[in-house]
Amino acid sequence: VTALTYGGAVSFPNPLPSALSPSRLADFQSCPRKYQHGSIDRLPQPASYATAKGNLAHAIFEQLFSAPAAERTLEFARSLVPAAEQAVLTERVREEVGLDEAGVARLRAETAAILERYFEMEDPRTVVTEGVELRLTGQLDGAPVLGILDRLDRHEDGSLTIVDYKTGALPNRNYDSQTFANAELYAALCESQRGERPRAVRLLYVAHGQAIERPVTAPVVRARAQAAAAAWDRITTFYDRGEFPATPSKAACRFCAFRDVCRSNGVAVVA
Ligand code: SF4
Repeated sequence: VTALTYGGAVSFPNPLPSALSPSRLADFQSCPRKYQHGSIDRLPQPASYATAKGNLAHAIFEQLFSAPAAERTLEFARSLVPAAEQAVLTERVREEVGLDEAGVARLRAETAAILERYFEMEDPRTVVTEGVELRLTGQLDGAPVLGILDRLDRHEDGSLTIVDYKTGALPNRNYDSQTFANAELYAALCESQRGERPRAVRLLYVAHGQAIERPVTAPVVRARAQAAAAAWDRITTFYDRGEFPATPSKAACRFCAFRDVCRSNGVAVVA
């Protein structure tokens, strides 16, 4: 039980987070209880192999794009791996993931393959970025939103594209609107904070060498801002009530870190 009762009123011991990130919004939209456990109760979320792999690749790409354009070669990217490993694969992460020697070897091989695939997708020496791991915060329709963009690229014609690296599986052919949700929320934030609407969002599925891109339009930006505002409204309501409902589903529970907590609280988790 995470909420405390004071004279009949129910309240959480921790304050409401000051802002909503796209990934926390996705948590809330898939299951409000997941948001509660992660963002309000602040229960630990043990690292997984997938998150370790994603963080490792992101750390390498961040350093790659922090170097002068002419230096961004595959050889240079490979040279960044040991330092990234040291930063990402801490003792705690190795323990939580259960990474033994064979696990580390697998991770290294997959990271090497990601770098090769990536360099087949684009030549980073030709990419002009406005920012890498760019932090943007602002209000969208009254909702405080915080986003960290993997990359914001500037093209020769002056337009911008939001680039998001994905190290997981490709979405199926009928991309649902959730595929682009995070990146489009970044686009809304970018327009509201920088006064420029990006031309497109581009998802780089670096493990597969495939990119998918979608144009950013005014209705898209408006819809994402409205969705964030509606979610924030519900979050504050549930917070004041002292409980976020659980909405178990296969998609939500499958990779949820809180299944044991839910089961012990009698929630019918969908495995
Ligand atoms: S296990 Fe399922 S019901 Fe429980 S918080 Fe996670 S997604 Fe929600």
